[in-house]
Amino acid sequence: MSDDSPQNDSDLFDKVVNLSKRRGFVFQSAEIYGGFRSAYDYGPIGVLLLRNVKDAWWRTMVQHRHDVVGLDASILSPPPVWEASGHLQNFTDPLVDCRSCGSRHREDHLDDPDTCPTCGEEGTLTEARQFNLMFQTHAGPVADSAAEVYLRPETAQGMFVNFANVLNTSRKKPPFGIAQIGKSFRNEITPGGFVFRTREFEQMELEFFVPPEESEEWYRYWCQERLNWYVGLGISESMLRLRPHDADELSHYSSGTSDVEFLFPWGWGELEGIANRGDYDLTQHAQHSGERLDYFDQERNERYVPHVIEPAAGATRSMMAFLMAAYDEEEVNEDTRVVLRLHPDLAPYKIAVLPLSKKETLTPLAQSIFDELKTRWMTDYDQTQAIGRRYRRQDELGTPYCVTVDFDSLDDDAVTIRERDSMEQVRIPVSGLIDWFREHLD
Ligand code: ATP
Repeated sequence: MSDDSPQNDSDLFDKVVNLSKRRGFVFQSAEIYGGFRSAYDYGPIGVLLLRNVKDAWWRTMVQHRHDVVGLDASILSPPPVWEASGHLQNFTDPLVDCRSCGSRHREDHLDDPDTCPTCGEEGTLTEARQFNLMFQTHAGPVADSAAEVYLRPETAQGMFVNFANVLNTSRKKPPFGIAQIGKSFRNEITPGGFVFRTREFEQMELEFFVPPEESEEWYRYWCQERLNWYVGLGISESMLRLRPHDADELSHYSSGTSDVEFLFPWGWGELEGIANRGDYDLTQHAQHSGERLDYFDQERNERYVPHVIEPAAGATRSMMAFLMAAYDEEEVNEDTRVVLRLHPDLAPYKIAVLPLSKKETLTPLAQSIFDELKTRWMTDYDQTQAIGRRYRRQDELGTPYCVTVDFDSLDDDAVTIRERDSMEQVRIPVSGLIDWFREHLD
């Protein structure tokens, strides 16, 4: 596979979308009413996977660091925030309409700017109009302009407007960061690619405030750290790349931006942008709010506006990348086994307890094993169908280990652990299960 050719399994996209629906990862929103293309619902398995992606990010970015604190800011925010950030003026995409078929497109996503990608007609596209992506609504009962509010299109501004609050309460000083995970909303012109581009999605963002002279060094640090995060969670390096933006792609305030990109079935696509934003954000908010948003360095007896390095990732989009990277098929006994080779930290269930038969003799032991495991790890319990079909189901959910309780278990007080990737089985005494899983999962 060459460096920028799409993944060679051209059906991968459809397979992952089908699996997602079949196994309860992701459902189309409002499906019983014909579906709503711009949003998706995360089902019983998807909610676990998405939560694990966010937890993995939070552990790496907040829990494991002494220099980052968390925040959960509001989604609704008043116009001055977006005036200061530049979103009211600049958060736009160029929109073109096809005069022939009426379809709408983002001009900067067209392969050929003269041809409509829907009907294929040439010369039918209108001039581009700048379309603001922010969702506007009204707070309170009167829908007049005084009540205008916006749904945030990114979580980042919550960190900037709370910079002084966090600085004054957290005893942190630059270099330090504020991290947030939460929903963002963009009125995308062309949502699509499953959960790749939706109008409601989740982001995981860090604003890292540094002394100006250290910004370049921290920018390089975060680019590498963020790439490593995806590799550490099981995406192979050949499916990832760090792509520095060309000068003409950079926002006017950014002195450097790199995207972490993943090789989706249709080619490289952004998972995360890491930007060196200079002092733009704090300066803008200080000017517009009249508040002081800087830092007084007592040791150096110097006041300065920290520069910001921003790693901004999509939680829902990276969840999709983790699914695509983990999807695998192999021939087993003349049958195709579908298996999600998810990293155990991301796997929705870590363990499934499977009594070999529904017979009541096995239930008490199986149930007591489940009760013990469930307090430490997300564990499934399933006693329906033949054991082979239950293994296949757990393979499709990405469950790393199945514990099978059989009739011998009643005599030897031991159970069989089956490993997802190798399908190898080991017999373990029930009393040693917790230690065994501690060693293999924690
Ligand atoms: P794109 O160029 O794909 O529109 P962007 O450069 O505007 O993305 P950022 O503003 O840098 O994206 O947002 C950070 C991250 O948030 C993106 O890398 C992506 O993972 C995620 N993200 C942005 N827009 C969407 C969306 N509409 N649906 C799902 N995830 C999104």
